[in-house]
Amino acid sequence: MISVKNISKFFEDIKALDGVTFEVERGESCAIIGPSGCGKSTLLLIMAGILEPSEGEVKVDGKTVNSPLRSVALILQDFGLFPWKTVYDNVALGLRLRGVDRKTEKRRVEELLKKFGLLGFERAYPKQLSGGMKQRVAIARAIAIEPQILLMDEPLSSLDALSREEMQNFLLKLWKETGTTMVLVTHSIEEAVFLGKKIVVLTERPGKIKAVVENKEVGDESYRHEEVFFERCKLLRRIIRAT
Ligand code: ADP
Ligand code: MG
Repeated sequence: MISVKNISKFFEDIKALDGVTFEVERGESCAIIGPSGCGKSTLLLIMAGILEPSEGEVKVDGKTVNSPLRSVALILQDFGLFPWKTVYDNVALGLRLRGVDRKTEKRRVEELLKKFGLLGFERAYPKQLSGGMKQRVAIARAIAIEPQILLMDEPLSSLDALSREEMQNFLLKLWKETGTTMVLVTHSIEEAVFLGKKIVVLTERPGKIKAVVENKEVGDESYRHEEVFFERCKLLRRIIRAT
């Protein structure tokens, strides 16, 4: 469904990405992992059609991406919520931009707030919420437009360990229930192994593909306690350390 082909990116004379190629199947979850500064965010923005590659191309369903697609939602690292808008208005934002009528909007937003455990917080502002709740608002907003592809840039990195695990479970459930194709940038090995059916490992800058690890066992919360899970984490640690 998503085909990343030979992507390179220069910022002036800094090479951020170098010939990155991989594919994500429809309904698959793909984790992208690599050291800080290796070009993960750059790669995600290129996949979202927001940044133009210097070389290569990204295709979604066979069509070259050269502007943001309606079927793609992007969640940035800092959530991107509007502090002056309520939870309800933040979630409704994408629907309003698409001119959805108010009745449909209300139904859709309420359904999402319920699903995301945010009922009763419609009128709250982001600053009144915990990190995990803010994150859920950001995901609810992205999901509201029913994207076929959900791109996330280190969405859980600002959460404490416990809310982080809770949100990982939440994302796993969301992925299983909706069948959305998900691409998740992370610098956590455990997170990549828990959520990524495919794990793309990048080298240090300029980011090149170091390995693509299949991780078919993904899909159950109990995976994080299984032997295979620990083995896979070990394997990834080895791959990341290898020069
Ligand atoms: P990561 O997300 O893996 O930490 P980034 O994609 O943010 O890495 O950045 C990769 C490299 O490209 C870094 O060296 C960064 O400084 C550089 N870079 C990213 N965006 C820009 C930009 N808009 N202008 C100049 N350099 C940039
Ligand atoms: Mg980044």
